[in-house]
Amino acid sequence: MPHGYVCLTFDFDALSVWVDRGQLSATPRSRGEFGAVAVPRLLDLLSRRGLPATWFVPGHTARTYPDLCRRIRDLGHEIALHGYAHENVAALDEDAERAVLDRSVEALREAAGVEPVGFRAPAWDLSENTVALLNERGLRYDSSLMGHDYAPYRCRIGDRVDAESARWGEETPLVEVPVSWTLDDLPHLEFLSSPTRTLPGLGDAERMFGDWELDLRYMLRETEQGVLTVTCHPQVIGRGHRLLRLEEWLDRITAYGVEFATVGTVAGLAAGGAQLGRPKAAPAE
Ligand SMILES: [Zn+2]
Repeated sequence: MPHGYVCLTFDFDALSVWVDRGQLSATPRSRGEFGAVAVPRLLDLLSRRGLPATWFVPGHTARTYPDLCRRIRDLGHEIALHGYAHENVAALDEDAERAVLDRSVEALREAAGVEPVGFRAPAWDLSENTVALLNERGLRYDSSLMGHDYAPYRCRIGDRVDAESARWGEETPLVEVPVSWTLDDLPHLEFLSSPTRTLPGLGDAERMFGDWELDLRYMLRETEQGVLTVTCHPQVIGRGHRLLRLEEWLDRITAYGVEFATVGTVAGLAAGGAQLGRPKAAPAE
């Protein structure tokens, strides 16, 4: 039994993220295009190490790059949902969100013949309807929330939070495999600018991977079968200096004896009752 899991996830946003940002002039478009340049590099890097990954693919990307999606599938990786054109679902009403979900499922089915079991919200935010919609579709997991660092948990419906207190709603079958902005390459590394917001990015990839390694070491010391889920974007991580740091990081953490698993695999274990990420029992006095 592995003493911890690492889920490598890649959000293959390609042009969809620029569609969502309304930045469709030539250079933003080309930044999305670079994502497709980076995907084969990442696939080769993973294949050389025999590592599985989960690829969250918007419908827009699946329709633009069906061959790459089939290659991802044929190498045994998981493909999961990531909106159609990278919509912030928290800003959609229920009918619009259901339509986007239907359209994104259809696009993955057409491009790669896959039936996704998981979803990651493009803006890492869910509407009040998302959990019900994902359950209604029979999906196994979401990977957008941040309520734990190492332990998958059940998504709830009906949380009530106001200035007085928080009252939790009912748990549902949908498993949450949690994420964090600290475990996402984009805010660390990518420079983004728009009239309303600048994300400085351009940080030191080695420092980012060093922090991720410390998160992993803490997980292995403190928890039983914890899960560390990291998020990378091909158009961010796909530059030479970052890929070399990624390779070094993967080789270092492989030495800890962790098991690399897809998010779908981990969600399946959690749904089956596995207690992942529990604190280790204190040693007897
Ligand atoms: Zn994305």
